[in-house]
Amino acid sequence: MIRSLVLVCSAFGLSVPACAYTDQSLPATSDDPNVHPEPKLIVAIVVDQFSADLFAEYRSRFTLGLKRMENGIIFPSGYQSHAATETCPGHSTILTGSRPARTGIIANNWMAPSDPRRGANGKPDYSVYCAEDPSASGSNSDDYIASAKHLKVPTLGDRLKAASPGSRVVAVAGKDRAAIMLGGHNADLMLYWDGKAFVGTAGTAAKIPAAMKLSNASAAAQIAKDDAGELPPICSRRLHAIKVATGATVGIQKTRKAGDRKGWRATPDFDSTIMDLALGVQTELGLGQGPATDILAIGLSATDYIGHIFGTGGVETCAQLMALDATLERMFTALDSKNIPYLVVLTADHGGHDAVERNQQQGLPAAQRVSSDLFPDAISTKLAAQFGINGATLLGDGPSGDVYLSADIPADKRSAVLTAAVSAYRASPQVEAVFTRSEIEAAPLPAGPIGEWSLLTRVRQSYDPERSGDLVVLLKAYVTPIPDGPAAYTATHGSVWNYDRRVPILFWWPGVAPFEQPNGVETVDILPTLASFIRLPVRANEIDGRCIDLEIGTKKNCPAI
Ligand code: ZN
Repeated sequence: MIRSLVLVCSAFGLSVPACAYTDQSLPATSDDPNVHPEPKLIVAIVVDQFSADLFAEYRSRFTLGLKRMENGIIFPSGYQSHAATETCPGHSTILTGSRPARTGIIANNWMAPSDPRRGANGKPDYSVYCAEDPSASGSNSDDYIASAKHLKVPTLGDRLKAASPGSRVVAVAGKDRAAIMLGGHNADLMLYWDGKAFVGTAGTAAKIPAAMKLSNASAAAQIAKDDAGELPPICSRRLHAIKVATGATVGIQKTRKAGDRKGWRATPDFDSTIMDLALGVQTELGLGQGPATDILAIGLSATDYIGHIFGTGGVETCAQLMALDATLERMFTALDSKNIPYLVVLTADHGGHDAVERNQQQGLPAAQRVSSDLFPDAISTKLAAQFGINGATLLGDGPSGDVYLSADIPADKRSAVLTAAVSAYRASPQVEAVFTRSEIEAAPLPAGPIGEWSLLTRVRQSYDPERSGDLVVLLKAYVTPIPDGPAAYTATHGSVWNYDRRVPILFWWPGVAPFEQPNGVETVDILPTLASFIRLPVRANEIDGRCIDLEIGTKKNCPAI
C-alpha cells in the first residue's frame, strides 16, 4: 500500500484549477478498468548524448531492443528545455520533474569565486563539481567524495521511498554524476565506473557481492585484451576518414590496445558491461519481484564518449547504436523471463552535434570551431590590463555558459569590469548573445512551443542565483566550443541550440498501445508521468513537468484535475 495524498481540485472559473491534497490510502493496484495496472519495476534508461537527430537517423535500422521501444510510445521531440545542455543538468531533470533552475544543477561544474579550495598546485581552485560532497571533498576538483548534496530536489526514487519504505531504488551508470542525479538522496544503491572499476555508495559490496564481482572481473578482462573494433555490415559504408583540427582522424575502423581504459569507455562494450551490472543487481536483489514497486535507473555512457572523441556522424556512432540495440534486447529478454510487470522509459541527458570538419563536408558550411580568444582566461587578462587589476577578472569553465567576476576585482571597479566584459564578448562574431544576472532574473516564464522559447527563457531555466555566473555567454549556432589544436575531444554539446536540447523520449510496457506525438514534450514530464503509473501523487507546484497521458481511449494514467 502506498499511503498517499490525493489531489482534489475545483475550477471556479479560474484559468488554473485550485487544488488541495487530502490524505488517504490508495490500493497498490486498482480493479477499475480505466486505471492502468501498476508496474512493479520501473526501468529508466538514459543514453548519454542520444540526440533526437541520432534517433531519427537510425530508428529505421533498429531491429532489437530499440525496435521494441519504437513499437511503444514515441516522443521524437523531447526537450532538455534549459540552456546548459550538459550531462549533470540533463540527468537532474529526468527523474525530478524539475529544470536546472529548480534542481540547482546548472552545469557539470560551476564556480565559487569567493570560496575557493586550495588546488593541488597550491593555486586557488574555484571549480565546484555538481556531484561532489562540498563538506567532504578533497583539496581540488579531482579529489572529491561523490554525493547528491548539490541536488536541491527529490528524485522519483526519493519520493517513492518516502511513501513506500519497502521499495528499492537502484541507479547504475557509467558516470558518477549520472548515477547520482538519477538515484538521488535516498537510493539503496548508486553504482558507477570510477575510471578503474565499478564502485558504489557505502555498503554496496555487502548488498550485491556477486554482481559487483562479476562486472569488475568482466571489465578487467575486456580491458586487458586488444579490440579489433569489428563493424556491423550496415556501418561499413560509413567508413570515410576525416582529419579533424584537434589532431585526430575519425570515421575509420578504430582498434583499441590492451590496457587502454579510457578507450574502453568509448566502445559499445562499456554500455554492455553497465547493463550486465544493472541486470545482475536486478537478479541479486529481486527488483520488481518483492511486495513493493522498485526503480532501476540505468545510465549508458558510451554513446557520449564516442560522440565526443569521434563525432556523432560517422562509423563509430553507427557501430555504437547498433550495439546499443543489442544490449537493450538482452535487457528485455532478461526482464521478460522474470515475469515482472515492468515499464521502461528511455531518453537522453542532452543531444549533440557532429565534428565541425564532417559537418562542413556534409552540407553545413557554417560549422566552425570557437576562437581561443573567447576563453575566460584570454578576456580576463585583457580586462585586468585595461583596469589595472592584479589578478584574474573573469572565471569560467569554457568559452560559453556562465562567466563569473573574480573576487580579485576591487568593489569600485566591478560594475565597470562587468560592462567591459559584456562588450568584449558581444564584439565577437561568434557570440550570439550575452545576458547579465539582472536580465536573466527578469526573463519571461516559459510559454508556447518548447523548441521556440526565447534564448533568454532557456537561460533562465538554467539559472540559480547562488551558483550561476554574473553573465552567460551563448555562442552562435554551429560554433563548436572546442578550438583548433590538440584536444582529446573533437565534438561536444552544451549549447542552447535545439540540436543539443532535443532528445527522444520513449515508453514501453507489455501490452502498450503505441502512438507517436511529434510535438514537443519535456524530460521534466517524465517524473509526473511515471509517478502516475505507480499512483504516487506529486504536488504540481513542486515540479516543472506535467503528467502525460500515455493511454489511448478511456483508460487514463494521469490523475483527473
Ligand atoms: Zn552527457
